[in-house]
Amino acid sequence: MGIQETVLLADAMLTPAGVVAPAELAFDAAGRIVYAGTPRVAGTGHEEISVQIGGTLPGEGAHAADVVVRDLTGHVLMPGLVNGHTHSAMTLLRGVSDDEGFMPWLAAVQALEQHLTHDDVTVGLQLAMVEMIETGTVAFADMYHWDERLIELVRGTGMRAMVALASFAPEAVGFPGVSPWNGADAVEQTEELAARYAGDAQIRVAYGPHAPYTCPPEFLREIAERAKRTGIPIHTHISESAAEVAQITAQYGATPAAHLASLGLFDANVLAAHCVHLTQAEIEDMARYGAAVSHNPVSNLKLGCGIAALPEWQEAGLRVSLGTDSVASNNSLDLFEEIKLASILHRGGKQDAAVVKAADVLAIATSGGADALGFTESGSLEVGLLADVIALDVTGSGATPLDLAGADTAALTSHLGFAATGSDVRHVFIGGRHIYADGTHLTIDADAVRARARIARARLHAAADDAAANAAGDAAASPADQG
Ligand SMILES: [Zn+2]
Repeated sequence: MGIQETVLLADAMLTPAGVVAPAELAFDAAGRIVYAGTPRVAGTGHEEISVQIGGTLPGEGAHAADVVVRDLTGHVLMPGLVNGHTHSAMTLLRGVSDDEGFMPWLAAVQALEQHLTHDDVTVGLQLAMVEMIETGTVAFADMYHWDERLIELVRGTGMRAMVALASFAPEAVGFPGVSPWNGADAVEQTEELAARYAGDAQIRVAYGPHAPYTCPPEFLREIAERAKRTGIPIHTHISESAAEVAQITAQYGATPAAHLASLGLFDANVLAAHCVHLTQAEIEDMARYGAAVSHNPVSNLKLGCGIAALPEWQEAGLRVSLGTDSVASNNSLDLFEEIKLASILHRGGKQDAAVVKAADVLAIATSGGADALGFTESGSLEVGLLADVIALDVTGSGATPLDLAGADTAALTSHLGFAATGSDVRHVFIGGRHIYADGTHLTIDADAVRARARIARARLHAAADDAAANAAGDAAASPADQG
């Protein structure tokens, strides 16, 4: 007889109704949460139920043999994290040109990126998923090259993803070493993939027009019209830098979000990354359009772009998720770092320690992200939703002292918001499927992925060096062509 129900017993749990301590989370064979509260077995301390597979939960009656009980004493449970904006394959470019400024960084990244092959994108994606799983991320919004082979890799790990095929202009080939697809092809492929994965619990497909400064207006208008017709969401970048705002305003006579609004983009379901330099009117308009945004504080600081107005977004009622952006501008996929920064950054800016509370950022990083990506059947630990849940070890120095007795909401949210790190994550369940168990991956060979990633990075540097040497050779051979 198959397992009918899985029960997790932990020291505490973060639920929409507040902190539960001690905690029991139970989900059925379909991964749907059937119970979230204090342990149902009266008088049973966690130590009385050992970790067991196929064990019985005392007092469960006739079907007890079908219940798996996992004793997670020394752990706390929270919803799995959702990364609202990244470019997974760029994990291969970790640490490229970190200290040289935005334009030299972009040049260094592009010098390597143009040599990416499909194998590189594959291993980059896999490396990103390994790191995300290890740090408690269960779902991510991605913009890069995507096709069925890559999507199936995501499905194999058990993760959820909203995948957007990055496009720049109808005739522009986005990733020449990876695929011959230009922008028009990417739009067609988006619609084919969206049809193929319609209704899939793990995959959502989105249009990925890169940004208003890389995509011509008529291309954006066409995507907006298609999105309105097909219902496919749009994932894009808006107002990442002041330079972008100046350029778009000079070119089109409107700030970036207003420019996109005039093209009809917000008639569709939009997820907009960065939004660092929105005007107050744009913030209010985007809230009214029902657009979702992704706050990427580490990337925005590291690239010198600025600080997005999260408190004003919250005030306006914007739908908000939290993202890392790519590893090339971060250099980590650990969302716990973003959670802490997203809170304290705005306190510093406002000189007010009461703005952007830990509980609010934790909600943004979980249910906010699930909402922004359209995974509305997960994102919080409540009966009826899918069990996307992570368990963090709270026995270490960084979690001591942590007094959870009496269900002190502030103690758990302050720990998760300000002290916890991705390396505290010990277990990950997605839709009830156990994909990371006590620090071991169950759905991907992490050692093999890391080894292949090192080889891929070395090959990229060699290819870029060859290209540079060839270019120098050509220049020396035909000096008259220069200038
Ligand atoms: Zn981005």
